Amino acid sequence: MQAVVMHTFGEPEVLQHETVSVPAPMMGEVLVRVGAAFVAFGRDVGTRSGLNPIFPRLITLPHVLGGECSGTVVAVGYGVDAGLLGTRVTMAAPTQCGVCDACRASSPWDCQAITLIGIHRQGSYAAYCVSPATNVRPLPEWASYAEGAALAANGPLALEELSVTNTQPGDWVLVPGASGSVGTLVVALAALKGARVIALTRGGRAASLLRTLGAEVVLDTDAPSLTADLLALTGHGVDVVVDNVALLGLWERYWPAVAQRGRIAFAGRASGDRQPLPVDVGELYSRRATLAGVALGDPRYVDKFWQMLRSAPLSLPESAIHVFPLHEAAAAHARIEDGDKVGHFVLTAA
Ligand SMILES: [Zn+2]
Repeated sequence: MQAVVMHTFGEPEVLQHETVSVPAPMMGEVLVRVGAAFVAFGRDVGTRSGLNPIFPRLITLPHVLGGECSGTVVAVGYGVDAGLLGTRVTMAAPTQCGVCDACRASSPWDCQAITLIGIHRQGSYAAYCVSPATNVRPLPEWASYAEGAALAANGPLALEELSVTNTQPGDWVLVPGASGSVGTLVVALAALKGARVIALTRGGRAASLLRTLGAEVVLDTDAPSLTADLLALTGHGVDVVVDNVALLGLWERYWPAVAQRGRIAFAGRASGDRQPLPVDVGELYSRRATLAGVALGDPRYVDKFWQMLRSAPLSLPESAIHVFPLHEAAAAHARIEDGDKVGHFVLTAA
């Protein structure tokens, strides 16, 4: 089969398009013919370059990158329902260990030994990928493979952030970093819930895409008047912030515009500027505000997300997904490194 193999860390060109053996599913696993594989900014690009502080150390070279994907189940291992054969599926990358105390106590969402497809094992930048059967979910009929891969990557995380912040119809939801992969899905899901979305992007870029996804207002992240603008827009302040960039200079300008009983969720941070955010505890409790952290990989939200999308299609506009053929994986990585981080990047094997 065709696969993108990395023999060393370095520039995008280390991603080599090669012919390798098709892997075989073992007990409890499925073989997925990949329709589209998601390209993750921090995980994949940071691992390939060697700059990610954690993942490169976990990889055995040569290696095939690639986590979340969509495709069709073409073989099943021992113990897996053969009814899955021929099913269009999406695949999650985080995999619970199955043997730790949390997994044995039937609370795998608290697993302390989560591994990632595409890091701890060979990934989906390939024509075929092996996955634990527990990582796949049916792909809704309305969704293309490219949409399936993009939604699988960050949809469940976006849903969890909106759930832990108890986002309600009519709430003002502020989304810093709105043009990225997680941000676009937070915007779309918050709008789907009936919230009023304020998207923040550098220079107001991708404004037209964000409005298509449901943003009511798009503001410039760097606007010095952001605090006053948010208060003027909402009257009482923003009810919810879903902040996946956690930039100090931005926090200082939106925190004064968080409403009474405001809720703020974090699930990531921008690379580079990683200064801690100062929290004035007095202001936090007098405002009765809530801060919440969310991490990728809670299988309950993977289930909830795909169940929700079966009856409520979340079609992504073409401009939200950059599709590259598999053999141009290096070009996709190069474009992300050049600073184009709007929307989602996927590789297609066909
Ligand atoms: Zn576990």
